[in-house]
Amino acid sequence: MISSPLLKQFAGYINGRWAPADSGKTTAVFNRATGEKLADVPEMGEAEAVRAVEASAAAMRDTPSLDQRRQWLTQIAERLLAQKKELGRILTQEHGKPLKEGIGEVEYAAGFFRFAANHIDVLQPYPLKEKVRGCQWTVHHRPAGVAGLITPWNFPMALLAKKLSAALATGCASVTKPAGLTPLTSIAFWSLIEDIGLPPGMANLVIGKSGPIGKVLCSHPDVRLISFTGSTEVGQLLMQQVAPHVKRLALELGGNAPFIVFEDADLPAAADALIASKFRAGGQTCVCANRVYVHRGVLDKFVPLVVERTQKLKVGNGLAPETDIGPLINRDAFDKVASHVRDALAKGAKRLAGDDPPRPAQDWAAFYPPTVLVGMKPDMLVCREETFGPVVAITTFEDEAELVRAANSTPFGLAAYVCTRDPQRAERVIPRLQFGHIGLNTGTGPAPEAPFGGMKMSGFGREGGQEGLLEFCELQTVAAA
Ligand code: NAP
Repeated sequence: MISSPLLKQFAGYINGRWAPADSGKTTAVFNRATGEKLADVPEMGEAEAVRAVEASAAAMRDTPSLDQRRQWLTQIAERLLAQKKELGRILTQEHGKPLKEGIGEVEYAAGFFRFAANHIDVLQPYPLKEKVRGCQWTVHHRPAGVAGLITPWNFPMALLAKKLSAALATGCASVTKPAGLTPLTSIAFWSLIEDIGLPPGMANLVIGKSGPIGKVLCSHPDVRLISFTGSTEVGQLLMQQVAPHVKRLALELGGNAPFIVFEDADLPAAADALIASKFRAGGQTCVCANRVYVHRGVLDKFVPLVVERTQKLKVGNGLAPETDIGPLINRDAFDKVASHVRDALAKGAKRLAGDDPPRPAQDWAAFYPPTVLVGMKPDMLVCREETFGPVVAITTFEDEAELVRAANSTPFGLAAYVCTRDPQRAERVIPRLQFGHIGLNTGTGPAPEAPFGGMKMSGFGREGGQEGLLEFCELQTVAAA
């Protein structure tokens, strides 16, 4: 069992109190690298979700002042930074990612609370300059209402922070449902914030069955906004479930990012950017490079740079200091990655790094070696779907028009990366790429200061930046005679 000063109880948090499941039922959480049982967490369902929503609705009867909200946000950011190592250690065990990434994720999460605190004044009302129809007009940012926050397992702290920072900044009480595989980071987070003075019900944590909890969030009349990060399939289901109730939705869904290397790119820098983008969290990020397009003229120079860097990466338990890549989240993830590689090899790809690892005997220790494939073709699974694993799949292109068509030939539009030293080329190509986040000569993903979100089937709505705060607001316009 995991032991941490931040994990004194394994419970949900409803109406300002720690809460077990009504049924007394629990679900086990495992260390993804070793299979050690870390904890038993409550298996909550519909009744607990309803109570959490009712507590949120009660908390929203009085909107806390902007200064009060700023104080909460600042305190949370400070506490996250003060406890980043402990939280990172918990995160690494339940997720598997290297400890340096776990700690980095906590720092990144703190950035969202800090940003919201520093920019909360964008939520001040503003008067219109024009006096129209004899009235003075003022636009107010009102909290949208109780928010349902549903997060996936791949960034258990950062994705919670993106949503909760915006909810608290705007005065929305919330009900969070973390992913079943990674609830411990959320529990530790709630123990960090339980005494900062949030009104009971302002931030609730409901751990358990996704279907029933999701249905309550989608259908309860007091919930006015669902902010979801996860798969496109579940995003589609949530759209259907909220449709009869006409609720606001912000959906951050799957990606299939192209990584483009032009013939004039700084090739070693492009290889570094690719490695950073591709192998973060073992390739299990929505923004990671999934399809690599390299100009035919530089393929022979670029590929060895990638292979050399990939072969240096160390796979292992995330708690070991030398680890660069932890296990995949579970055996299903392993099977998906293995099937993508098998399919590519069967259709003519060549493997230049990696091998066929044994299938894990259990649901954990799903280690997959960092792999480089060349000869990717559009009909291969690695090209059509998010692989969500440590596989670099490379193909070539010759001209820009062909490249843009290929890069956009996916229903997804989350992130894309462009490596070129020619600013005119960048200006020409980037507006034609249908992706919400572009890395130009960098593999960096989103930042707390910038709006981030998808186009096409990668969803809608933005997190981060002031746009991320506005997502949780209703605008109310007052015309005063
Ligand atoms: P997922 O299966 O969609 O799960 C995400 C969350 O939704 C989890 O909390 C899950 O709970 C919950 N959920 C599942 N079924 C539900 C239902 N019927 N009603 C309500 N909630 C439900 O996704 P995942 O496998 O955890 O995450 C990987 C996906 O997330 C990838 O496609 C990735 O690209 C995407 N992602 C996108 C972004 C972005 O910003 N666009 C960021 C990170 C990840 P349980 O775990 O309890 O089932």
